Amino acid sequence: DEQTMIARRAALLGPAYRLFYERPLHLVRGAGVWLFDPQENAYLDAYNNVACVGHSHPRVVSAIAAQAGTLATHTRYLHTAPLDYAERVLGTLPGAIDRMMFTCTGSEANDLALRIAKMATGGTGVVVTQTAYHGVTEAVAAFSPSLCLPGGVPPHVRTVPAPCAYRSAGDPAMRFAADVSAAFEDMKHCGVTPAVFICDSVFSSDGILDGPAGLIAPAVLAAREAGALYVADEVQAGFGRTGDAMWGFQRHHVVPDIVTMGKPMGNGYPVAGLAARADLIDTFGQNVRYFNTFGGNPVAMAAAGAVLDVLEDEGLMDNARDTGLYLKNRLSEIMSRHTVIGDVRGAGLFIGLEIVKDRREKTADPARAVAIVNAMRDRRVLISASGTSGNVLKIRPPLVFSKADADLLADTLIDVLGNLD
Ligand code: PMP
Repeated sequence: DEQTMIARRAALLGPAYRLFYERPLHLVRGAGVWLFDPQENAYLDAYNNVACVGHSHPRVVSAIAAQAGTLATHTRYLHTAPLDYAERVLGTLPGAIDRMMFTCTGSEANDLALRIAKMATGGTGVVVTQTAYHGVTEAVAAFSPSLCLPGGVPPHVRTVPAPCAYRSAGDPAMRFAADVSAAFEDMKHCGVTPAVFICDSVFSSDGILDGPAGLIAPAVLAAREAGALYVADEVQAGFGRTGDAMWGFQRHHVVPDIVTMGKPMGNGYPVAGLAARADLIDTFGQNVRYFNTFGGNPVAMAAAGAVLDVLEDEGLMDNARDTGLYLKNRLSEIMSRHTVIGDVRGAGLFIGLEIVKDRREKTADPARAVAIVNAMRDRRVLISASGTSGNVLKIRPPLVFSKADADLLADTLIDVLGNLD
């Protein structure tokens, strides 16, 4: 049973890996938007952006199987797969971004972005948002303040509040830019040379802060004036999730120096990487030998290519826009009847709900948010909570989420809210 598994897991894997939910979920199978436990109970996945074209999509599965049965190796031989894939992805990015490198995880992509930026700028300084998450390598964990590392962030890292249209008075874009500028100035005074300004294009762990459009443009300008490169972390917002464009940064009318990507890229098969301007990648490559055994391997590329095929053929970006809007309207309607919801926001199928104690004061209510997440889980609808105060319900389902799925989510939320104390 679950309790035995939890004990076995602790004994074998130790305590570093955290599980979701008060009653952790044992899963054995996934299909589309559904996840199944050993008793074949179906759970609606409204959280998982990895399975972006749906869990175990048959086209992705057969592409992986076919390639694994033909050639699965490392990446020091000539193979057309990474070339064909890079061409397709670069075709979706602004023209200035014309080279690609492959890794296996988003963390490695951000780690590589940092190395490239350090070489290009001669600096080491990083500015991130206050509750950012960018990954687990030692270098990247150092600028992932949401991990709450013992001792806090090191001296070469500065954090700034993410731009929040709900809570901040005044123009969040201008305030964000002023904060970024001040953070870089401050590090310069301490003898640290700027290297990187990295942020999500929909601020995820900071609380699903999505807009308005153009939100981060002034901050990008400020970072460049300070001598830093702008890295767009598209690990969560990328691949059509925001419904209006393939990449989240496009809604902010900015052109990144480096774009990092991962999670949805292989629909569960580990694929990640970055795209950047040729001058950056070439300077790095002329000075450093980079070999990532599995980065861009033929099986990974087969998975990733099939994901792009399905995104296109099933019109999933349009679905993210239409279903996202439909769901947001339903949630806004629920908000009009439940004062614990202070705000409904988001882009496409990347939606956040602020759970508050008091609508006027906007006091965060993380305990209630967690109670809602667990009550939803007990009713077999999977969401999560996020944000600097942990009070923002996070809804980020596979892009095949339908209006009927949105209705099930909304109706379950009504039921849960009606049963809260
Ligand atoms: N950046 C962001 C925005 C992420 O959400 C994550 C993963 N949660 C990462 C980077 C790291 O990716 P990975 O877990 O694949 O290393």
